[in-house]
Amino acid sequence: MTARTRGAAGGGKLGARVDELRDAAFAALEQAYAPYSSFRVGAAILADDGSVGVGCNVENASFPAGMCAERVAVGALATRGLRRFDLLVIATEADSPTPPCGLCRQVLAEFAPALPIISVTRSGEAARWSLADLLPSPFTPSFLHHS
Ligand code: ZN
Repeated sequence: MTARTRGAAGGGKLGARVDELRDAAFAALEQAYAPYSSFRVGAAILADDGSVGVGCNVENASFPAGMCAERVAVGALATRGLRRFDLLVIATEADSPTPPCGLCRQVLAEFAPALPIISVTRSGEAARWSLADLLPSPFTPSFLHHS
């Protein structure tokens, strides 16, 4: 992990966990079920209790039924009762770091609208975003409440 990437995580508490989450995301990627796209993805999310939830993409012969690694990781944390997230690291084998897809952005925004996101590649490329930049006007639970 480069110093640039550490800095991108905001340093401090989060920065100290970036390498750990990167390793966890690549370990999850190894379990990806991607026979159709061959685009393996791993995701690791740091929850506010300090624990990490991981996920890999799970494709399906009925293509829309497939799940992205990010949403699988959200499900793993939600199953443990965790609802607040501090950092997402996405690992792929692409040439350039890839952001989460639109569907995953919406799912992540439910729990962490300003989630810091770092995407890494095998070659060491990294990019960083805030979810608030990737999805500036999410549909949130507040829209469901009538006054
Ligand atoms: Zn996705």
